[in-house]
Amino acid sequence: MFYGASLQMRKQEIEKMIREKRELLMEAGAELSVFQPHADMAWELYDREKNQEIIELLEIELSRVNEALQKVADGKYGLCDACGGAIEEERLQRQINASLCHKCQEDQNNILH
Ligand SMILES: [Zn+2]
Repeated sequence: MFYGASLQMRKQEIEKMIREKRELLMEAGAELSVFQPHADMAWELYDREKNQEIIELLEIELSRVNEALQKVADGKYGLCDACGGAIEEERLQRQINASLCHKCQEDQNNILH
């Protein structure tokens, strides 16, 4: 339950940040089309690209949080996909949608390498 509540908060935070960034982008876009090109133009374009990148990163994070929320709903959050054991707390803090426990992740890395 603790995880569900903090995930919901995280989700709302991320959605709010995405909305704010999108609004910034739209305002910047409106200004760009109204004003003549000027010295600040390049900087504004750079800023726009940066905002777009941030939005993309936020959307990736949002989909991770949504996946984690789905797991909470299924009663599977914090359980390893491979062995069904509990995933270490610190792993979940580092990666909110971690799907493997430390040992299984290591096993998988060993297979890949
Ligand atoms: Zn495992």
